Amino acid sequence: MNESGVLDVLPIGVVMINRQFTVLHWNRWMEMYSGILSTDIQGASLFRDYPELNSPSFLRTCRTVFTFGNVVYLSQKLHRYLFPFRLFQADGNDSVEMMQQSCSMTPVHDEDGEIQGIAITVQDVTDSVVLERRLRAINNEDALTGAYNRRFLDSRLAEECDRHQRYGRRLSVFIADLDDFKEINDTHGHPVGDDVLREFCRVTKDEMRRSDFLCRYGGEEFVGLLPETGGSDAAELAERIRRRMEKTVHTGLTGEFTVTVSFGIAELSKEISEPQDILTVADDRLYRAKDLGRNCIVFDPSNDTSTKR
Ligand code: GH3
Ligand code: MG
Ligand code: MG
Repeated sequence: MNESGVLDVLPIGVVMINRQFTVLHWNRWMEMYSGILSTDIQGASLFRDYPELNSPSFLRTCRTVFTFGNVVYLSQKLHRYLFPFRLFQADGNDSVEMMQQSCSMTPVHDEDGEIQGIAITVQDVTDSVVLERRLRAINNEDALTGAYNRRFLDSRLAEECDRHQRYGRRLSVFIADLDDFKEINDTHGHPVGDDVLREFCRVTKDEMRRSDFLCRYGGEEFVGLLPETGGSDAAELAERIRRRMEKTVHTGLTGEFTVTVSFGIAELSKEISEPQDILTVADDRLYRAKDLGRNCIVFDPSNDTSTKR
């Protein structure tokens, strides 16, 4: 097997270019993922087929290799990819569209020690990127509902409180508790109760902004973290969720039924600036909503801006 034969059996991409960016070698792996045959690209400029590589950052990197003879590593974490290879979604990598690549660029010397070109290697690291993302998501996710879990809530709320104390960023929270949920379970069974929890999360996420976070606080209690949102806007959001939930019809063992939700709302302020404080205030207001007869929202008990049925 000659040199180029060895490069052709490697499970990574190998591209050789000269100082004029002419492709001197394009191995079998590159042919497979680019759909461009080595016979079509060798002898042509790399930028003919990949004009996006004719960028200040790639040219700067090449100059470094040519000038100083350094080996440069392009980490996926920083660059995501060098060659834009679109992925087919058949492998379930639905969270990434392009092949994620870790690459290296190594100077190639001639017999006199002069740098004549650069050998670029391209390693497909998509699987590990997808796995890492998935693991990170699982670590922060409640298995039943897909909402964020308590671990995520604690760390995110602490970050938001820091941001409020340092930069005055706003944050409101709601605590939502499904009304008479024990009775739902007792009447219709636990699996139906589970479906209601999932439905509540679906409706709530649908009403929330993409930048908001819905977290399962415990059992049938959920916390919404609403960055850059004031208390009255949070109350409006809760009101939309409350109204949608009371109209949502569920099917249980003994027929159709509806479930209502009560909310307590609090906003970070000078007086309420610690994670535990804002949750305690929201929780006190939730209890007040329960006292008021459930299916309602309490924001500020001092001037009683509660919304009732
Ligand atoms: P209230 O209106 O005062 O909130 O009454 P409630 O019945 O909702 O409150 P309680 O705290 O008495 O009951 C909560 C119920 O939530 C009891 C528990 O079985 C149920 N629950 C907690 N976690 C889950 C779960 O993961 N799935 C199901 N199906 N039920 C759950
Ligand atoms: Mg409860
Ligand atoms: Mg409840």
